[in-house]
Amino acid sequence: MATVTLRELTKKFGAAAAVDRLDLDIGDGEFVSLLGPSGCGKTTTLRLLAGFLQPDGGEIRVGQKVVSSPAVLIPPERRNMSMIFQSYAVWPHMTVFQNVAYGLKLKKLDGGEIAKKVERMLRLVHLDPLAGRYPGELSGGQQQRVALARALVVEPEILLLDEPLSNLDANLREEMRFEIRRLHEEFRITTVYVTHDQAEAMVTSDRIAVMHQGRIVQLGSPEEIFDRPKTRFVAEFIGKTNILRGMLESGRSVALGDGLKLRVLAGDGLAPGKEVFVCIRPHSLRLTPSAAEAEAGRGKGMNLFQGVIQRRVYFGDANDYIVELPAQRLNLRVVAPPTQKYEAGQKVFALADPEQCVLVGEE
Ligand code: ATP
Repeated sequence: MATVTLRELTKKFGAAAAVDRLDLDIGDGEFVSLLGPSGCGKTTTLRLLAGFLQPDGGEIRVGQKVVSSPAVLIPPERRNMSMIFQSYAVWPHMTVFQNVAYGLKLKKLDGGEIAKKVERMLRLVHLDPLAGRYPGELSGGQQQRVALARALVVEPEILLLDEPLSNLDANLREEMRFEIRRLHEEFRITTVYVTHDQAEAMVTSDRIAVMHQGRIVQLGSPEEIFDRPKTRFVAEFIGKTNILRGMLESGRSVALGDGLKLRVLAGDGLAPGKEVFVCIRPHSLRLTPSAAEAEAGRGKGMNLFQGVIQRRVYFGDANDYIVELPAQRLNLRVVAPPTQKYEAGQKVFALADPEQCVLVGEE
């Protein structure tokens, strides 16, 4: 296993930098996702890591060894890395067993050892009953498992995955996220996983690197990224959120346009007197029709909004509301339990714990 260090890593296509002075330290045995919108540079970073591309600036180290820089490029086959692509890329003319055995044959292991390793790996990915089938006789999820088994069986130092689940249907994708995490816990191979799907990153990763325009804008555990986004971009990219614009008065108070003051979680490095944004997740707002309950909440230090239900959508496991706040001239999105039912036009109060009102900067 190995640590991976990216320093000032830069890759340009023409004048535009697809990866722009990117720094990242990945621990031995850690699972890190590169998460971001289309075109933010995730795949380019992964291709740089794999050695398919050479950087224009900066370097990549595995342990202490420089594997990529403008002057050095260790070829992909000498990096002891396995890469898995969107398109599985399993060989159609080989059985499941032969696909998984292929990399071990290249390493010139003897037949008995190959069979032992392949059989163990097929058991781990639950494919042992299908060892004799050809990929054309497998479902998409089973083919993706073959790709995983083939990548893991050679015991690489580093595993690189590029949107490996995007060709699967929604149910299978969800199941395979857990599968990938389970296999990671089994093998603890240092892993870099590219995705634009936040749920996938949250299930699989120890840490998530959110990318924007070729750079990492926030790096942290799934909880940190979701609960404590540092910028508006991160808050809006990871999950649904309400963003309220206001003026920071002191470390913990934001004035909205209409005189309403919000108590907020203290933010880092934001100066009073500046325009800021407050991120409130829809599920952290609590609705009540009762003025007494609303006042009691305010008495306990909660932020209180007064509004009117504009729209309700029932999702089975939740009611999703748009609540209009006439005084602030804005709408709040609120996710409430399925048993809490309000009709359009009904007056309600929305309460928010200051701990869940997170200050974020513009960039
Ligand atoms: P997606 O999620 O759509 O795959 P991504 O985050 O992986 O996006 P990259 O594929 O790394 O993004 O691309 C980053 C930027 O570099 C994009 O603007 C893309 O158009 C550009 N780019 C990538 N590869 C090339 C290439 N071979 N030649 C020119 N431009 C490229």
